[in-house]
Amino acid sequence: MMNIIFATGNQEKMKEIRMIMADQPANVFSMREAGIELDIVEDGATFEENAAIKAKAVKREADRIAMADPTGSGPCSNAIVLADDSGLEIDYLNKEPGIYSSRYLGEDTSYEIKNRIILERLSGVPEEQRSARFVCAIAIAAGKQIRCVRETMEGRIAWEPKGANGFGYDPIFFLPEYGCTSAQLSPEEKNACSHRGKALQAAKKFIDDYLQQV
Ligand code: IMP
Repeated sequence: MMNIIFATGNQEKMKEIRMIMADQPANVFSMREAGIELDIVEDGATFEENAAIKAKAVKREADRIAMADPTGSGPCSNAIVLADDSGLEIDYLNKEPGIYSSRYLGEDTSYEIKNRIILERLSGVPEEQRSARFVCAIAIAAGKQIRCVRETMEGRIAWEPKGANGFGYDPIFFLPEYGCTSAQLSPEEKNACSHRGKALQAAKKFIDDYLQQV
């Protein structure tokens, strides 16, 4: 069976990824489960650049571990590495927090506070100027190939936080076509329309095509 390593330390993302990849004939590992401990500096200027930086660094390390594994059967053997970089773009805030979404307003600031501050910054801003989107770029490193896909989920910043599902900015991200925030969607509903869900579907297509070639 194919091994896929997902380059993230975010457990919430990992949960979504496992659900979406459940139909693949593949073992899906987090970086830690694959024995990879790296401190990667994400200094790209775009979601795509950051995803590619992570995928390349983790693939290099996975290949190094695989070479040193005499059994040839560990998680890093012939592994395909996927890395995502995602975030929230709020048009009224000049697309902030963007690639700085996880560090926005301080790395250790809780999302309850981050979300409250964003709502304050948009206080009184009318509905039509509250447009926002979640963006997800996924870089796939397979063999010597590297490819990047990007998807979005369009919505608006809500008037108040609602819902307890999801993570991060989900409670303040309103989806007009569902009439609720992405934190009020079930995990299945969110995966079907989310930036990450759609990007992972595109990544699966790339992996299928790649496996046909090798
Ligand atoms: P990354 O781990 O560097 O890609 O940072 C992604 C950050 O963007 C997360 O920590 C969240 O703040 C935000 N984000 C990305 N995707 C989502 C989502 O699906 N829901 C809520 N927040 C998200």
